[in-house]
Amino acid sequence: MLEVILKGHDKYYGVSDVVRMFCGVPEELKDEGKVIAPDGPDITLVNELSKDGRSVTYTEGRSYASEGEILEPGREIKRSLYMALSDITSKRLPWGCLTGIRPTLVACEVQSPKELEEKYFVRPDKALLAFETSREEQHILSKVPEESLCIYVGIPFCPSRCAYCSFVSSDISCHMDRLVNYEAALEREISLVAPAVKRPLSAIYVGGGTPTVLGEKEFASLLDRIYKEFKITPGCEVTIEAGRPDTITDGKLEAMREHGITRICINPQTMRSETLQKLGRIHTAEEAVRVYKKACDMGFDLINMDLIAGLPHENADEHVRSTAKLIELAPANITVHTLYKKRRAAMSRDTVMDLEMARGKLDECVAESYRLLKEAGYHPYYMYRQKDTGHGLENTGFAKGDTGSLYNVAMMSDCRDVLSFGAGGMSKRCFAQEGEAVKHRVERCPTIKDALNYIERVEEMAEKKISFFGM
Ligand code: SF4
Repeated sequence: MLEVILKGHDKYYGVSDVVRMFCGVPEELKDEGKVIAPDGPDITLVNELSKDGRSVTYTEGRSYASEGEILEPGREIKRSLYMALSDITSKRLPWGCLTGIRPTLVACEVQSPKELEEKYFVRPDKALLAFETSREEQHILSKVPEESLCIYVGIPFCPSRCAYCSFVSSDISCHMDRLVNYEAALEREISLVAPAVKRPLSAIYVGGGTPTVLGEKEFASLLDRIYKEFKITPGCEVTIEAGRPDTITDGKLEAMREHGITRICINPQTMRSETLQKLGRIHTAEEAVRVYKKACDMGFDLINMDLIAGLPHENADEHVRSTAKLIELAPANITVHTLYKKRRAAMSRDTVMDLEMARGKLDECVAESYRLLKEAGYHPYYMYRQKDTGHGLENTGFAKGDTGSLYNVAMMSDCRDVLSFGAGGMSKRCFAQEGEAVKHRVERCPTIKDALNYIERVEEMAEKKISFFGM
């Protein structure tokens, strides 16, 4: 059992986050002043923050402290703990002691990738990735005026549930009746709130779940509502997440084209049909290709396709082959996710972390996918990490030319406001702290997660948002 005793500080979250990367989910025993990981090496460490701001982590006969510039306390304690655990377990992690979901925020503060390597022990390839991506994110963010608003519209229903899914999404095979009522409630919420929105819109994202799970009539009606209620100017990016190819019909593509949707996502996740079937997705890789080609023929030129590395039932080579197949199709955006585990997924955390791919091959195959994408002219434009991702890796969106999604970057940046509609949506307002130019303080306004409750309380949800935004 690993025990970390905190001394001179109370940064339990920071200590837990580092321990978690090496030894699995730990317990924070705040009353006892320590963090323990039952599955870790049998050792007791003291993680101390001294009065001069330097952190040292020590155990009998060994002590670890960084040299040079002293960082802010939260980062300082992670550095010394990372050094200790990395030495004791002989493990080096791709992102070093960076545990946050947005390494690009840290990359914005440094002058070179080398600085990320030296200060945070980030591996050179990841340091370069974060550095390049952070510059591209800043470029995209400059196209989203601070006073503008991004809109999210959520449809938490899917045609079946994927084994790895952690989202609040209902399988329509059990909840078809709810879907029609939900869509009506969603339109009601939009029509109640939209008249109060006076700010210009930069991006609208219709996500889920799977928005295209709606019937053709309901789908067209929702698009009508969005375009009728909001002032959508030509520069506004409008994305529809048409994630599951089995839900995309010619009629729905036609509705999207008629309304002027600028970006669609068709997400195969893997180009191996056998894997898709085993994961509970009721479509084949061929179906994804057919729908993609149909969308191209209809004139959609900004299509994103998602892949997940580390899926069970397939090996590293099969993931790389999927990337190569998508590159042949040449969509404008390809996003490479790494499988991660959250509470609601059918697959356990241990399954995700123990998969053969998670033990090392995952890292290699993600690197190979990135290499192929760069060779084919794609560049990374946004990135984020999630807890419990296989091998501590990340999710990266790649784009050709200037096609990176404004919404993705604005939403992840936490410095642009987002107004969300639908069950489970999170609206947020971003503020600059006094004396700071960049917005870092975020206030959030959640919408009720349960679809049935949402339908019943939609007026209340609408009022809550109008008041939250002071509209
Ligand atoms: S399509 Fe996405 S939201 Fe729907 S079940 Fe699969 S992973 Fe979950």
